[in-house]
Amino acid sequence: MGLLSAGTPLSWDDTKQVANHIRSHGITQFLHIWDRLKDKNGDELLWGDEIEYMVVALDNETKNAKLSLRQTEILIKLRSIVDNLSSETKDAITLPTFHPEYGRYMLESTPGSPFTGSISDLLAVEKNMRYRRTLARKHLKPNEIPLTLTSFPRLGSPGQFTEPYYNPCDAVSSHSLFLPEQITNPHVRFPTLTANIRRRRGSKVAINLPIFFDEETPRPFIDPSIPWDRSIYSEDPEAKNGAALPDHIYMDAMGFGMGCCCLQLTYQACNVNDARRLYDGLIPIGPIMLALTAGSPIWRGYISDVDCRWNVVAGSVDDRTEEERGFKPLEHDRFRIPKSRYDSVDLYISEDWRNRPEYNDQPIVIDHCIYSRLRQHGLDDLLSKHIAHLFIRDPLVVFSEIINQNDKESNDHFEVLAQSSVNCGLLIIGQNIQSTNWQTLRFKPPPPNSPIGWRVEFRSMEVQMTDYENAAYAVFITLLSRAILSFNLNFYMPISKVDENMSRAQGRGASQSEKFYFRKEVCPGGNTPKSSGSSSPVDGSRPKDRKMRNCFPPPEMPQNGMPKGPVEEEYEEMTINEIMNGKGESYPGLLGLIWAYIDTLDVSPQELSKIHSYLDLIRRRANGSLLTPATWIRNFVRAHPAYAHDSVVTQEMNYDLIVAIDEIERGVRSVPDLLPEYYTGGEVDGGSISP
Ligand code: ADP
Ligand code: MG
Ligand code: MG
Ligand code: MG
Ligand code: MG
Ligand code: MG
Repeated sequence: MGLLSAGTPLSWDDTKQVANHIRSHGITQFLHIWDRLKDKNGDELLWGDEIEYMVVALDNETKNAKLSLRQTEILIKLRSIVDNLSSETKDAITLPTFHPEYGRYMLESTPGSPFTGSISDLLAVEKNMRYRRTLARKHLKPNEIPLTLTSFPRLGSPGQFTEPYYNPCDAVSSHSLFLPEQITNPHVRFPTLTANIRRRRGSKVAINLPIFFDEETPRPFIDPSIPWDRSIYSEDPEAKNGAALPDHIYMDAMGFGMGCCCLQLTYQACNVNDARRLYDGLIPIGPIMLALTAGSPIWRGYISDVDCRWNVVAGSVDDRTEEERGFKPLEHDRFRIPKSRYDSVDLYISEDWRNRPEYNDQPIVIDHCIYSRLRQHGLDDLLSKHIAHLFIRDPLVVFSEIINQNDKESNDHFEVLAQSSVNCGLLIIGQNIQSTNWQTLRFKPPPPNSPIGWRVEFRSMEVQMTDYENAAYAVFITLLSRAILSFNLNFYMPISKVDENMSRAQGRGASQSEKFYFRKEVCPGGNTPKSSGSSSPVDGSRPKDRKMRNCFPPPEMPQNGMPKGPVEEEYEEMTINEIMNGKGESYPGLLGLIWAYIDTLDVSPQELSKIHSYLDLIRRRANGSLLTPATWIRNFVRAHPAYAHDSVVTQEMNYDLIVAIDEIERGVRSVPDLLPEYYTGGEVDGGSISP
């Protein structure tokens, strides 16, 4: 491992030379996993969350809130704390793990080992998240806070937004006009990734978010904070040559996107087919949850007209060349590629008979050689397409020490080394094709030589400012994922409509103002499971489950064969309130389905009321009686005494906002328009809430 910690990344030209080698061995590695584990069956429900934080340093004298670039020191400290704790405690779940992330101001935490399907684990997630945050907080400086905020409002603004200060002139990897080199995790992988995306693309990335026009915002809006005439790097003139659009907030570096924080959830399935079923089931849920968790309305010091990070992250790692983006005829490159490597899912992959070919209605670019190789090996069409689609991308960072691997033992060319967080992750080594395809869902095959099974990761949600909210969304998605499998819910609709929802989800106030395509009849044969309201089992003959089960029989094809009505009649446009809380007699809403699923579980009144306190937040966010974090943040700034109604978020407003968020998290500031009245800053007490 020592050798690899000083891994030597290849130059971009050399990386290109070995791209085919990496892809080919990546596929070999995947096939070894497939051959060994395709029949793996009976794995229990294990699941876990990932929460990302930004460490913010408050300067109370100058009233500035800055990103603290101490990730390396903080992680070393946290790792040694956790090591000490592990000698004292036997409970692996409660030992948190902290991981590095792209931003040098970021941390990621996960439970020390995954949760099980027990109700007590489900309801322990908030406590676990709080413990992780408390531990992090305790080992920061007194003026530093671990903030779970999706985007930092003044990242890349004029003035000092990092502690310590660095000048963007030295951004040797990104060549950004706004972000210094030191914003990025110093591990060689991250600067290399940043530089190689720029080199592969042939220009800096270019992200333009529409500005929010307030009363005094100048029209047209030409951003005075862009150093239009800087000339240090060859890409500096890009801004004035068309990359920066009028009436938009322009961003030019990977850090603007990968420097955002999110909330992710991973579920182990019983077997590969259930994983594929769950993956498909959650695809249409991705955009809905993005809209509902919206938390990032401010970018580079301006209020924008969007509420979510998604398109910023997609743009921030868009390494496609001009040919691939369709601006030039294909000459040097192999494919026209419609999307960034960070984007929404392109393909349903389940062999469930209900997965009609019409749902995969977007042209899907695949590597045909890889596709044929997978088919010849015996893989089915959809999974072969899925993998052959991921593998149209080039590897972005290749270390010379690990070009040649034992393909039976390693999956580094396919994905990432399993021991990625050795020594607090400071030795992250490779991270390959699968792991640099960042989509709304990730289908995760088991790593070689581990007991881990087939997993599905849900990736669209924005992180929430409090662990109560993060726990609520984790509980919601966990219960929904069980309801999908146990009731055989059918959420299929054309991928093009999911993409359309993805774009609608990000607009200002989308969770209340937009409608989203959604399937009208989601239960098999129209037999909607109904909650009795008193938590009695749906099927009175079956004893209730003491824990969330993981293995369910797949849906049976009806006697009279597949229904074949036009696909367009299966879905309609609904509000988020309808999607969540129900519409008419036939569609009970996702929450209605979850309550019906809870009826099948053996839960105590105490547990029930705690579940209620989580689902209640989601019900109220969906019906608009509570605001999304994005709307709350936007309102806070617009109501700030110093706000000049010109879309500008100054250092002082940013400081006051960050202080307010910290106070909300600690429960010393009441925000009845954002959080339920029973949120007090401590763990939500199920005992006091009646369902
Ligand atoms: P990545 O960054 O690759 O998405 P992480 O390792 O950071 O993944 O976190 C993934 C989450 O999956 C963690 O919460 C972890 O507890 C959880 N997890 C670990 N093992 C399993 C498993 N066998 N099944 C489901 N989840 C798991
Ligand atoms: Mg992670
Ligand atoms: Mg990771
Ligand atoms: Mg990650
Ligand atoms: Mg992460
Ligand atoms: Mg993840």
